[in-house]
Amino acid sequence: MLWTRLAPDPLNGGGMHRHRVEVTWQVATDPRMLDVVRVGGTIAHPGAGHAVSIRVEGLRSDTWYYYQFVAAGERSRIGRTRTFPSFSSTPPEMRFALVSCQNYEHGFFAAYRDICRQQIDFVTHVGDYIYESAANPNVPDERRHTGGKLESVDDYRNRYALYRLDPDLQNAHAGFPFLVTWDDHEVDNNYAGLIPEDNQSPQEFLRKRENAYRVYKETMPLRIDSFRRAKTRIYRRLRFGALAELFMLDCRQYRTDQPCGDGTKTLQSCPAMIDPSATMLGVHQEEWLYRNLVRSRANWNVLAQSVLMMRLDLGALLGPNPPLNLFQMDTWDGYQAARDRLTAFIAQNHVENIVVLSGDIHSSWAGELKCDFSNPDSPTAGTEIVCSGVTSKFGRVNDAEMQTIVSSNPHVRFFDGLHRGYALCTVTPHEWRTDFRAVTRAESPIFSVPAADLPLFNLASYAIRNGDPQLTQV
Ligand code: FE
Ligand code: CA
Repeated sequence: MLWTRLAPDPLNGGGMHRHRVEVTWQVATDPRMLDVVRVGGTIAHPGAGHAVSIRVEGLRSDTWYYYQFVAAGERSRIGRTRTFPSFSSTPPEMRFALVSCQNYEHGFFAAYRDICRQQIDFVTHVGDYIYESAANPNVPDERRHTGGKLESVDDYRNRYALYRLDPDLQNAHAGFPFLVTWDDHEVDNNYAGLIPEDNQSPQEFLRKRENAYRVYKETMPLRIDSFRRAKTRIYRRLRFGALAELFMLDCRQYRTDQPCGDGTKTLQSCPAMIDPSATMLGVHQEEWLYRNLVRSRANWNVLAQSVLMMRLDLGALLGPNPPLNLFQMDTWDGYQAARDRLTAFIAQNHVENIVVLSGDIHSSWAGELKCDFSNPDSPTAGTEIVCSGVTSKFGRVNDAEMQTIVSSNPHVRFFDGLHRGYALCTVTPHEWRTDFRAVTRAESPIFSVPAADLPLFNLASYAIRNGDPQLTQV
């Protein structure tokens, strides 16, 4: 999918008025656009904010291409993208960056600058691509949101435009294909299905969600046929030859409400967190996932989704001998029966090499997904890798607290809450290696807005081997 948008006044609705505009595009094998292999034309419609998404057919598999748009006498910059290996091929390697949570007001996108230096096949974004909050007057001008809290189509368009004006994010899109799914902030903090976080009426929230989904669809490089029957279905699967099957999941649109009014709860105070009727994926998506997991013949089965799946007992932070377990209701901990169904399905059907990719929590994690988290000897259904936010803050955490969290959750192999960054995954038939890339500066005061040119470094690296979900530090 190739994408562009005509927007001479990007922060104020686009500035194209009601005109329909002809757009032509070219695809070439070289960065100077000399060896053109495909050309075409389309119309940029005002109803789509003059965004166009082109599905190019007839390209060679496993190949890098360059592309350019021409409209109204203007030429776009030249972008680069690549096709996946063919279904029947056996690629020796797949390499990608896992990113999430890029609150523009929390800093510059140093992580994307580092990503642009990597030799990777694609970028996977697991949500919080934008944040919907109003401009914060305490943030320095150069990194402040424009406008109020998002509601209308134009509000969302202007916000995506603000993020896309960032040169590092722009370079990443011009350099690599993106595989995306969403989390909550693409619409509204911690929403669940049609239930908003705050006290908007269902009708008001539905209208807002439709606006948000519409602009997401306009703005993101999604294959249009994934929006079946006019519904906004974004869960889908992609195959990287025989090496990996990638399941891009939607953890927001179909979930039941967070139990007990969201927040952080104890099992004693919120027995609903083990409610068997709770669902994170919804019935159809869950069945679709199970059906395709048993069918998969891929070496690695990758579940890219937005929120932390492994259990995270924060009770130890309450004191030296915590009387209570404490869980976050917005992650899979609020939907424990749904998590148990998934891990039991994987174990019973012997689906091998499950790697879950997550974001949302603004910190780096690696851990093992147990069929019963209270029993360390229970079967391990898979491995989870969680990237830190590109910019979004985790909040205050010190080394002792980090140690406490790890030691009271034996399935957690790695946790860091001090650094922003991303996860760089290198996947071969024999090994899955994850390098946690971190922005050099440790936790900085909120709104200090760290610079875009801060170098990144390898914070830690963990690997799993084919057939063995246990993580080892490398
Ligand atoms: Fe976030
Ligand atoms: Ca989130």
